[in-house]
Amino acid sequence: MVPWLGEEEARAASDTVRSGWVAQGPKVAEFERAFAERVGARHGVAVSSCTTALHLALVALGLGPGDQVVVPSLSFIATANAVRYVGAEPVFADVDLATGNLTAATVDAVRTPATKAVLLVHQGGVPADVAALRAACEGWGLPLVEDAACAIGSTVDGASVGRGALLAAWSFHPRKLLTTGEGGMVTTDDAEWAARLRRLREHGMNVSAAERHASGKPVLESYLETGFNYRMTDIQAAVGLAQLAKLDALVARRRELAARYTELLADVPGLTPVTDPAHGEGNFQSYWVLLAEEFPVGRDELLAVLAEAGISARRGIMASHLEPAYAGHPAGPLPATERIARDSLILPLFHTLTEEQQDRVVAVLREAAARP
Ligand SMILES: *Cc1c(COP(=O)(O)O)cnc(C)c1O
Repeated sequence: MVPWLGEEEARAASDTVRSGWVAQGPKVAEFERAFAERVGARHGVAVSSCTTALHLALVALGLGPGDQVVVPSLSFIATANAVRYVGAEPVFADVDLATGNLTAATVDAVRTPATKAVLLVHQGGVPADVAALRAACEGWGLPLVEDAACAIGSTVDGASVGRGALLAAWSFHPRKLLTTGEGGMVTTDDAEWAARLRRLREHGMNVSAAERHASGKPVLESYLETGFNYRMTDIQAAVGLAQLAKLDALVARRRELAARYTELLADVPGLTPVTDPAHGEGNFQSYWVLLAEEFPVGRDELLAVLAEAGISARRGIMASHLEPAYAGHPAGPLPATERIARDSLILPLFHTLTEEQQDRVVAVLREAAARP
């Protein structure tokens, strides 16, 4: 991944520095409104990362020790860690082999009476089947939180991922489509949750520093509960607003490049590229290919072959339950998770990738597939 940054972002950052207001203030408020509108949510609460967004979403749900939260193991480790932050227990569910996402059936297989929430991930930007998962969770009486870290610009049934979500968490790390350097957001339609999230990100204060400043009068704040410092800066938000203006172009270019990869790879045996599911369209934040068991070169060796050719690819999405941080943590059989974690790799895909560069990647993969 290479972020698509330019003069617009540089100017936005320097204008904010020159304004003299650099911490959370008017730019954060403007970015929150613009972002929430873009994803079809009533409220956006900007925070320092998606990891802190997930943490606050779980705090807002009142989860704690003794509670279980169903999560995919197949995700960046922050998804499972957020559950541990509130003292609850992550319970790993398997995923669909084609999409890398939880399904109602994989969640149902690990649900227990202690399950208090489900945390789905729109993995690599592939939209999860939210209609089916929301219906299932409603039937079980469980809140559904969406880790949409990778999914800005992805759609479900023609609407943005995040629309209608109880709570969705977003990332603006440079590894994702839209970046503020570091940053995150929680979106929700619930005004009370939004107010609580705003308080929690700012030490539990009942009135923000920006509001106190704007009032022009002495306002004494009070601290209603134990909060955090999870704020985004106005410098980051200004960059985010410039990035948001480019989002449609970013998604269009990624989808175009992904379609070209898929076309070029169609006759390379033993490689299955990620595709759009029936219910939506992805942003192709991560263009991954799954190697057939009989592919002549193992995944790690293939990464080395690509690196030797000067091509930077990455292993596919990780399996959290296989990491030392989760050693000894109970996990049932997760065959699709382990298969994807073992046999997938993510190909180079960024806004300024050229067709020549793409052809070179494909040529190396084609040569590897033809090995005896
Ligand atoms: C990147 C990512 C995160 C963490 O995002 P940060 O903004 O870096 O904290 C969480 N969940 C998923 C699925 C991610 O891909």
